[in-house]
Amino acid sequence: MESRKDAITAASRQKFDICVIGGGATGAGCALDGQLRGLRTILLDAGDFASAASSASTKLVHGGVRYLEQAVKSLNLGEYRMVKSALRERQYMLANAPHLAHPSHFLVPVYSWSKALYYLVGMKMYDAVAGKSNLFPSSFLSRDETLRRMPGLNSKGLRGAVAYSDGQFDDARYDLALVETFVEAGGTALNYARVAGFEYDKQGKLLAAVVRDGVSAGEFVVGARKFVNATGTGADKVRALANPQLASRMRPSKGVHLLFPAGTFPGKDALLVPHTEDGRVIFAVPWQQRLLVGTTDDELTPATRMVVEKQEADYLLRQLNPYLQTPLRREQAVSGLAGLRPLVAAKGETTTSKLIRDHEVELDSTSGLISILGGKWTTHRLMAQDTIDAVQREMGSRVSASLTRQQPLAGAEGYGQNFASELQREYALPADVARHLSGKFGSRALRMLPWLRENPAWQARVSSGAPAIEAELVYAIRFEMAETIEDLLARRTGVEMYGWREALAAAPVAGELLAREKGWSPAKKADAVSEYTAKLRGFLRELELSEG
Ligand SMILES: Cc1cc2nc3c(=O)[nH]c(=O)nc-3n(C[C@H](O)[C@H](O)[C@H](O)COP(=O)(O)OP(=O)(O)OC[C@H]3O[C@@H](n4cnc5c(N)ncnc54)[C@H](O)[C@@H]3O)c2cc1C
Repeated sequence: MESRKDAITAASRQKFDICVIGGGATGAGCALDGQLRGLRTILLDAGDFASAASSASTKLVHGGVRYLEQAVKSLNLGEYRMVKSALRERQYMLANAPHLAHPSHFLVPVYSWSKALYYLVGMKMYDAVAGKSNLFPSSFLSRDETLRRMPGLNSKGLRGAVAYSDGQFDDARYDLALVETFVEAGGTALNYARVAGFEYDKQGKLLAAVVRDGVSAGEFVVGARKFVNATGTGADKVRALANPQLASRMRPSKGVHLLFPAGTFPGKDALLVPHTEDGRVIFAVPWQQRLLVGTTDDELTPATRMVVEKQEADYLLRQLNPYLQTPLRREQAVSGLAGLRPLVAAKGETTTSKLIRDHEVELDSTSGLISILGGKWTTHRLMAQDTIDAVQREMGSRVSASLTRQQPLAGAEGYGQNFASELQREYALPADVARHLSGKFGSRALRMLPWLRENPAWQARVSSGAPAIEAELVYAIRFEMAETIEDLLARRTGVEMYGWREALAAAPVAGELLAREKGWSPAKKADAVSEYTAKLRGFLRELELSEG
């Protein structure tokens, strides 16, 4: 990616066709789609790319078995169509970045024959809705087979499990790969660039965005023919900036996850807990040497805090533990995630868990702002396609074909199934490090690993337990617009998800490399380390976890 300075110079000098506001899944998808159609596009995010909902998901590339159940029970055609199109999108998402997304088996344990039949029929319907894009046919597994694949399952009264397939992915890295692919296609991307206002033409249409640079604290103006608001839960604020008359549309809901060591629930398959006390489902998914457990669904209120709270952790364990041979305890958690779903309000619905995860492209005819609202990660490509179609219509030009269905993302080129073992052999890496680099960077790992020959010190792990090494931090600072310790340890390398304690240990290393690469003063480095570690200590305190 180009440097921040180059991007700001490019941003303020030229007029773009499209200015996409928001660099989560939706905005990054819109930017890539626009640029590939030949429209000069700029992507701006107020924080880091993927720093909001797009790195806090359950990391499922799915149609949603629960949404299909809801669609059937309430004969809701809209919800059925949403599941169908998400299942179609699932195959594109998996194919375009095989280093970041892969098919997985999910098991629904059953403790009565009537439930076995109910879930098997449901999953067969899920297969049928997926049609040609189905990953593996669903099936019933005997009790013995179920316990062989999931030895940690509560065996008392167990009849077996219904197995079905869906995808899993690395959400933060997928977002970064979209941004990188966009930049390589000629686009301009800038993180820490908040749209704080607009300039208008004589007809009251948007002419330029006033942008605050969070790094230099400066301000610049970006001119564009069309402005796309892809700010997730921030959409109402940007809509109000463009046109204060617009009524609010968003109904955000908070969801949290906990991560545990993988050994606490061994096996390769994901567990779906089919019924929670509030009538939802939760997942326990093996994810990058951890077990990811989630999620909750609570409407945003003024009292909502963006941390995993003790009672949320206890809720998750209360739903999961009846299915486990050995119950998990909160003290075993190694980290967690909290995020806000950008749900769109619908008439008559009372609970956020019942709101359809569909999307809507909204045009404000007064200002010309085009907002893309709602949706989910799995449908980001389709959302982007619909949005850029609308942009072209509003420009009065021909709607050209979207080129993103078969668009390999950065890191996918030259990536194959044996890539991790090839890296391990070629660069004499420990197996977990090779797997980690291959899974996070795909073939882009080949851009940093030759550095180890000159700089063997960069092969050091950033903290003793985690598989991330110093070279990838340097790479992320130089080529992936990482500006802060959190950018490095949360989204670029995933150390923060691997463990808050590992991230605490890695913070000084990340601070030192940032200081060296960016010429920070010792005081700036010390401030950055203490700010980040204070945040992590807050997370640990919240769940009454020790630092050691
Ligand atoms: C707990 C949870 C679990 C989920 N699980 C799944 C799942 O398993 N599978 C799935 O498909 N989906 C899942 N989702 C949904 C999915 O994560 C979201 O739909 C998706 O990430 C939304 O992306 P987005 O780009 O619209 O929003 P966001 O990721 O929130 O991005 C919006 C961006 O806009 C930026 N922004 C805001 N205001 C401004 C401004 N003024 N100027 C510039 N930038 C601005 C923000 O900094 C932010 O980065 C889940 C969501 C949550 C919360």
